[in-house]
Amino acid sequence: MKYALLLLLVFITIAGIAQQEHYEHPLVMYTLTINDSDLTSYHIEMQITNVPDTFRVAMVKHFEYDDRFWHFIKNFRVQGKNGNGQMIREDSALWKIITTGNEAVLHYSIQPPVTQAMHGSWRPFLASNGALVGGPQSFMYIVGYTKTPSQVTLHLPAGWTVATGLTVKDAHTLYASSVYTLTDEPILAGKLKTWAFTINGVQHTIAYYPLPNAKFFDTTALVSDIQKVAEEAKHLFGSLPYKDYTFQLIDGSYGGLEHKNSVTLGANSAELAEGFTDFLSEMAHEYFHTWNLVRIRPAEYGDVTYTETPPSKELWWSEGMTMFYADLLLRRAGLPVFEPGRIQHLEQLMSTYFSETGNTKISPEKVSMAANSDPGMLGDYNASTHLQGELLGAMLDLIIRDATGNKRSVDDVMRSMMQHSGQGKGFTNKDVEQRINETCRCNVHPFFQQYIYGSNAIDFNKYLQLAGLHSAVIWKDASGDDSRPLPDLRIYAWLTRQGKLVTGIEDPESTWGKAGLHTGDEIVTVNNTPVSTQRDFFSLLRKAKIGDTVSIAVKRPAGIYKTTVIVSAYKTAIVKIEELSTATKEQLVLRKQWLAGN
Ligand SMILES: [Zn+2]
Repeated sequence: MKYALLLLLVFITIAGIAQQEHYEHPLVMYTLTINDSDLTSYHIEMQITNVPDTFRVAMVKHFEYDDRFWHFIKNFRVQGKNGNGQMIREDSALWKIITTGNEAVLHYSIQPPVTQAMHGSWRPFLASNGALVGGPQSFMYIVGYTKTPSQVTLHLPAGWTVATGLTVKDAHTLYASSVYTLTDEPILAGKLKTWAFTINGVQHTIAYYPLPNAKFFDTTALVSDIQKVAEEAKHLFGSLPYKDYTFQLIDGSYGGLEHKNSVTLGANSAELAEGFTDFLSEMAHEYFHTWNLVRIRPAEYGDVTYTETPPSKELWWSEGMTMFYADLLLRRAGLPVFEPGRIQHLEQLMSTYFSETGNTKISPEKVSMAANSDPGMLGDYNASTHLQGELLGAMLDLIIRDATGNKRSVDDVMRSMMQHSGQGKGFTNKDVEQRINETCRCNVHPFFQQYIYGSNAIDFNKYLQLAGLHSAVIWKDASGDDSRPLPDLRIYAWLTRQGKLVTGIEDPESTWGKAGLHTGDEIVTVNNTPVSTQRDFFSLLRKAKIGDTVSIAVKRPAGIYKTTVIVSAYKTAIVKIEELSTATKEQLVLRKQWLAGN
């Protein structure tokens, strides 16, 4: 109530300024309509006043993914004060609008792609009992006026309710303080099931969109588990950074996407009926982004834009520490995780780190910069910013604990990052380095030089011994659940923006790399069969067994390159961590505290 009044005042003030100084702030009101008589598309009306007669509108490109939502716009038209206006498309996501009378009403429809059985939870959909709308997939904005607040009026089918991180003024009216907020917080609408809990008076809403044939699962337990994770996060940071929070759970979808006051999560009822481990792991990760990534934000991520967003060098921290804390918060809350103990978890991460050799050869800064781009940025290697970052965080935690006699840990760095960089200023890797140095009163610059700016493989034993631990790597034939060796299929196919199907090589030492293939080779034939889709490629390759011969022809600027590959087995790393019998008393204390997750 207090908040709604404040918003009213903001509107009155803006209206006042607008009258005095022409064009300083256009006023924007959106209407979003879903008609249940036609569920192929939904409609947006963008009412703009106090605007020059020529201006531009655009659609935001999301920082982390580019679904090119402008593909889904239909029936775009402009109405000026004195009749129809004009719109001229200047780029894929950019339009010039010519209107009259310093106002315009833009009308357009969004026709989201027909939902597949299992789709990305962040993707827009429209169904008979619900929809995910709003966000970057729905709202155009006026270029140059990204600080403009706006109001959204909803016309929805009868019986539908709304769950969103936007400020809810009433059942049909939402408010966004800027274009960033407007396009950051999607609107889940439909015949939703909702639950709520509060932490220190802060309301948390859980809204579930069920498919018509949803399986039964224990919703009381799920709500309680989500609350436990939120309580652990609050305990870590000391407070909650939002006024209210919404968990948007979507049946029939996978993955998740973080927002400032909400999170969109795949919540497949059939999977939830089997257990919560997968869901909780994803949920804890995306929820932790509410702090780390959304508020503690890489310096390169500025205001919204319709153009390319610059790659970030800090994603190893934003993604890796979020992986680290998703695991740790679940352990602290006593909830299920994939590996029973922290040592087993570390063994698992390190095994993947060594097996996918790109992790050991390419600097986390570079891997960060490639994380949200198309495949192929890391040449003939694969590497994960999530994995590198989580392992770096684990080693830094040991360094801090050792340097401070267990009085401090990476928890203190997280709080310090929130304090210094959590208000939207943006952080760099140098900032992280400084926050750690202040926390440990030690010097982690050499660590950063070697393992973050540089491309040295992490010397794990140097840091594990601080906890009286030691690791060993054993190389074995990669094998399946039946213990039989697996064929080396470390090759994939991907479609470039230009529509070319090209190869992706995961390791130059793979059978495919050794056969002279490189990431980015245009695929012509596999076993003399022309291949033009990812599906064709995988269906031909999937059947390959050890000893089989596969011939591939690829097109390069220099001409056609043909090669024949004999599919072999391949080695994978298995890491074992052991307790050192020579551990000192201090190292044993550190180990005990670290294992307990304190
Ligand atoms: Zn993430």
